[in-house]
Amino acid sequence: MRNSTHPDKIQLIQALRTGRIPFQDHLKACENCRTLVGILKWSGAGVGPLAWEPSEAAVRRSKAIARIDQSRKPLKTLTGAIIFDSWKSQPALAVRQAPFGIERRIRFKLQQYTMEFVGIRQMTGWEFVARVYDGDAVTRQFVLQTGTRKLVVGSGDCFHWHSQQPPRRMRLLSKLLGIDLGSLQW
Ligand SMILES: [Zn+2]
Repeated sequence: MRNSTHPDKIQLIQALRTGRIPFQDHLKACENCRTLVGILKWSGAGVGPLAWEPSEAAVRRSKAIARIDQSRKPLKTLTGAIIFDSWKSQPALAVRQAPFGIERRIRFKLQQYTMEFVGIRQMTGWEFVARVYDGDAVTRQFVLQTGTRKLVVGSGDCFHWHSQQPPRRMRLLSKLLGIDLGSLQW
């Protein structure tokens, strides 16, 4: 059957973003893919709020990109502020005691730039997703530095990464601007 191949997640996100759906016939016939489209829409993979479910391909990709052009230094570096932290209202919790599945959401801001950040503790470590906005629009202009790693934007216009320890320092880097996101307590 011609339409029996399922589109992968990247193709689905692409279709949601562009509104062009080349596998229309497949969607009509395949309930699995229709469900997936529903989930992706709900999670805002195409537009809108943070899509935080990292695809395996994106996780692999971010692992593969250990460092990107270390020589490049932004012209100026400014410090961003935390304007929302879902852990702020919670009692202090030693990170080692944090239960699996616990989630922390943080919003950073500097001038017109906003970064939405989500960390989820899993059995195998922590999963992180972050997305940067320039005003209301998602921007792909930055590289995210966490420790010695530099990550590029992957699927869903998000940074995805995995780590045993949550990040204490993060920086957004573009050619013109570095944004120091301060130090995080976990
Ligand atoms: Zn399908």
